[in-house]
Amino acid sequence: MNIPPVLKADMHVHLEGTITPAMVEKIARRNNIAVPAGLIRNGKFTWADDGTAAGNLKGFVQAYDDATGVMKCAEDYTDITYDYLKRSADEGCIYAEIFISVDHGKMVGLAYPEMLAAIAKGYEKAKVETGMEARFISTCVRHYGPEAALRVAKITHDNPHPLVTGFGMAGDENAYTVADFKPAYDAAFDAAALPFRTAHAGEAAGPQSVRDARDILKLRRFGHMVRAVDDPALIAEQKKINAVPEVCVSSNLALRAFKDYAAHPLRKFFDAGLKVVLGSDDPAFFNTGIGKEYAIAKEEFAFSDAELSRITRNAIEEAFIDDATRAKLLAKLA
Ligand SMILES: [Zn+2]
Repeated sequence: MNIPPVLKADMHVHLEGTITPAMVEKIARRNNIAVPAGLIRNGKFTWADDGTAAGNLKGFVQAYDDATGVMKCAEDYTDITYDYLKRSADEGCIYAEIFISVDHGKMVGLAYPEMLAAIAKGYEKAKVETGMEARFISTCVRHYGPEAALRVAKITHDNPHPLVTGFGMAGDENAYTVADFKPAYDAAFDAAALPFRTAHAGEAAGPQSVRDARDILKLRRFGHMVRAVDDPALIAEQKKINAVPEVCVSSNLALRAFKDYAAHPLRKFFDAGLKVVLGSDDPAFFNTGIGKEYAIAKEEFAFSDAELSRITRNAIEEAFIDDATRAKLLAKLA
């Protein structure tokens, strides 16, 4: 696919999901760990594709755990952050918003401040070389439960960092209820240091998950939100609040949320006037990157370069950044 020449923004991407097979091999070697058997074939991650949403999710989660399991130290975080940002900048990406996980840091053996320092180091290096901006969203994992989420929220709140501007939630959308996580969102919020919020909703779960996230967590930005396509009334409601769906086409197809491009609502959302932005989600695992997501929008959904530029403008307008950075990025688009 030809990567369109427009400037881009990656608005939904998990840091650990950017770790490439080459990076897994490099980090494993450095940490003296064997790469799990069968994880990488012909330079790509492989997992059992049984053609069902549940089976693929299981396989993907296993591959994700195996790949990120080679990470053991701060340097690993620095390297994957730099590697992702550099690759994205090379594809014309000027801004990324990246989910980071207190829980994953803990698995690697790093306290949140140490993990953040390592990530910031990778970011600063990439920024000097490319000019690309990024911000980070501290993300709780829904299926770890409300108490774990509250812990993540408090750690995030108590350790403010200028690059961490939002709070989010990933993981199994069918675990617990949205209301169970309201305390975490309340605890994370800080009008000055942590004003922004998003959550995965309407990916695996249906339209009600989107309404719950909107009404209970007071969101206007949603990870995926693609299942809103099943409910025209919801699309109208979401348009009214100027909702922002973070759309990740390759992810949705890899995990069988939709069977093919024709069934996917990207074009429908955009034409309905929703403020669509694009994301690569876990690019290394879905064999994509933000350049390819823009290419797919162009080639499979017939987006013109002007429409793609509109998507990037949507992203910068809705980015979790300060006004001065927003103005600087918007000036790049002018
Ligand atoms: Zn995601």
